[in-house]
Amino acid sequence: MKHFPHFLTRSRSARSGTTPSGQVDFVGAGPGDPELLTLKALKALETADVVIHDRLVSPEILERARRGALILDAGKEGFGLAMAQAEINALIVQHASRGAHVVRLKSGDATVFGRLDEEIDAVTTASLDYRVVPGITSASAAVATIGQSLTKRTRNASVRFLTGHDMKGFAEHDWAALARTGEVAAIYMGKRSARFIQGRLLMHGANPATPVTIIENASRPDQRVIATTLARLEPDLTDAGLTGPALTLYGLAPRLAEAVDLPLPLKELAQ
Ligand code: SAH
Repeated sequence: MKHFPHFLTRSRSARSGTTPSGQVDFVGAGPGDPELLTLKALKALETADVVIHDRLVSPEILERARRGALILDAGKEGFGLAMAQAEINALIVQHASRGAHVVRLKSGDATVFGRLDEEIDAVTTASLDYRVVPGITSASAAVATIGQSLTKRTRNASVRFLTGHDMKGFAEHDWAALARTGEVAAIYMGKRSARFIQGRLLMHGANPATPVTIIENASRPDQRVIATTLARLEPDLTDAGLTGPALTLYGLAPRLAEAVDLPLPLKELAQ
C-alpha cells in the first residue's frame, strides 16, 4: 500500500501524543469570481485558523474565510516581491507548527506559476502535514470568456502555459515551435514582456496576423477583453492601459467578437 507523507506525519504525532502539529492546505482560489471556488477550497477557508494569501486573491473570496481567522497578506508583485519567499515559507511553518490549520491561498491554481514547490519543501522539511486543493487557473477562465477552447481538433493538439518573465528577466521559450501555424499559448505575467514576446515570435517567422487576445481581470466584474493580432499586440496593449492581472491568449481570437465588450477599433480587428 502506498503511503503519502502527510498521512505518515499525522499518524506519527497521534502515536507520540505530542502537541498535534497543524495542517497546511495549499488552496487554489481561482481567478477571482467566488463562484469559481471549489467546494473543497471553500471548506478549507471556512475551517482555517490562518489564511496567508497572495495579492491577486479577491476580497470577495477572503470574506469566505472563517470569522476569527487570521488573514495575512503575502502579496507579491511582478518583478519585486512584497514579501520574500523565505519569509512566506517561515510564516506558514511558524503557524502550522503551533497547531494551526493554515490555508495558503493562491490565485488560480496553486500549481501554476505559484512557487508551490518551494513552500511544500519548507513544510515537509518541518515535518508538517499538507495537501493541495486544485483551483481554476486564469487561462481556463480567460478562454471561457472568449468562447474558445484551449485545444481543438485540426488546430492544436497541445497548449503551452508560458510565463512572460522568470527570475532572470523576460523568459525565453521555444519561439520557433510557437511560431508555427495553429499554436496556442496562455501567457501569464505577459504585460511587461509583450513587446519582447512579439519581437521574438516575429523574428522566428510567426504570422503577424496571428490572433492574440488579452483578458484582464478574467471572471471579475471589471473584466476586459482586448482582441488584437501579433503585429499589433504592441501598441494595442499599451493603449489599453491595463491595471489588473491579464492573461494573454496567443493564437486565439474571441469566437464572437461582438459578444464581448471591446473598444471599437479593436473590435474591428477581431472580426
Ligand atoms: N496561479 C495563477 C497564476 C499566478 S501568476 C493561476 O493559476 O492563474 C500571476 C498571473 O496570473 C498574472 O500576471 C496574470 O497573468 C494571471 N492572472 C491571475 N489572475 C488573473 C485574472 N483574474 N485574469 C487574468 N489573468 C490573471
